Amino acid sequence: MKIPMSSPNLTDADRQAVLEVLNTPNLSMGPKIDAFERGFCELTGARHAIGVNSGTAGLHLCVRAAGIGQNDLVITTPFSFVASTNVILFEKAIPVFVDVEPHTGNIDTDQLSRAVEDLCLGGEAARAWLPRRLPAESKGALGAVKAILPVDVFGQPADYDAINTIAKQYNLSVIEDSCEALGGAYQGKPAGTLGDYGVFAFYPNKQITTGEGGMIITDDTDAADFMRALRNQGRAPGDTWLQHTHLGYNYRLDEMSAALGLSQLERLDELLANRARVADWYGHYLAEIKAVSPPQIVAKTTQVSWFVYVIQLDPSVNRDRLALILKERGVPVRPYFSPIHLQPYMMAMFGFQLGDFPVTEDLGNRSLALPFSGEMTEEMVVRVCGAIAEAVIAAEK
Ligand SMILES: *Cc1c(COP(=O)(O)O)cnc(C)c1O
Repeated sequence: MKIPMSSPNLTDADRQAVLEVLNTPNLSMGPKIDAFERGFCELTGARHAIGVNSGTAGLHLCVRAAGIGQNDLVITTPFSFVASTNVILFEKAIPVFVDVEPHTGNIDTDQLSRAVEDLCLGGEAARAWLPRRLPAESKGALGAVKAILPVDVFGQPADYDAINTIAKQYNLSVIEDSCEALGGAYQGKPAGTLGDYGVFAFYPNKQITTGEGGMIITDDTDAADFMRALRNQGRAPGDTWLQHTHLGYNYRLDEMSAALGLSQLERLDELLANRARVADWYGHYLAEIKAVSPPQIVAKTTQVSWFVYVIQLDPSVNRDRLALILKERGVPVRPYFSPIHLQPYMMAMFGFQLGDFPVTEDLGNRSLALPFSGEMTEEMVVRVCGAIAEAVIAAEK
């Protein structure tokens, strides 16, 4: 019984949907992407949906649409996948990290309010939140605080009541990185609709996949038109193929991918239910293991969308030794997340150091993502949990 880290759920109908596109001449910008986008509007109630070729591309277009430019400040979290910070760097803006809540791994909104207040005040109070070093090209000239970019970590939305209150008060855009949260809900509202922009991603380990792909949703019509233009080499409505109103990109989602996504989207409820069933099994079989804390779901998360299954280990367990033992027994696991501020290029660019974001670092040190997909059988979950129960004892510090 081989247990993969993750695996997509693909049916004959999915494969057929891709093959059908290959029997037409429309391989890009055809009817499938239109239908895929409409599907997202229907699912989330958003006015506009814009398909792109990755979640990262989607986040980048939101950064452009929010008017974020060189030296502008964007408040975000270091406990995430690097893409949520990289899109800020693409525009030479400056990420201001705020640490996370220990239970959810989502941005700590008390600290977020203080950060926004201090940064808008300027001077000494503001400096405490800024990276130790700013890139030389910034010449020390700080722009304005423009946006908050929260991440819905592991499929659980951040606390948007608090985030939007702060954003409104200071006139900031909110870019929701909902790449891990398709199908999740906060106080009954769908993930992705909780800020001004939301972005989903469809890499093969996500809740639905297109191979590579992403989707932006927003209610802002001007921003949607702008992002549509940017994804298509800057061609605004009315531009011919060789007219480019804006500096754009090729962030288009091809028709084969869109067809696969549409077919997957039609089965979203089933795909999410499969994942929830596996998460329930994990919760049940891990309950016996004292040194392991399962993911915590807070009351405001009215619907979890299980993206990964990340446990926290008791500090008495040597996480890396545990991971090694599990790997030797055929159970792949992964530390998740590895803090963004400690990535080599981030330390070099901004002078971040160990200790800068203690909650993020502690979660990063004690977390372990277990093999997870809707395809897992109960037998697989039992085997993983049995291996953990044994290995935890061997990995005691
Ligand atoms: C998956 C993911 C993305 C986007 O990833 P792509 O590989 O570019 O599609 C962005 N942010 C988070 C938190 C993610 O998990």
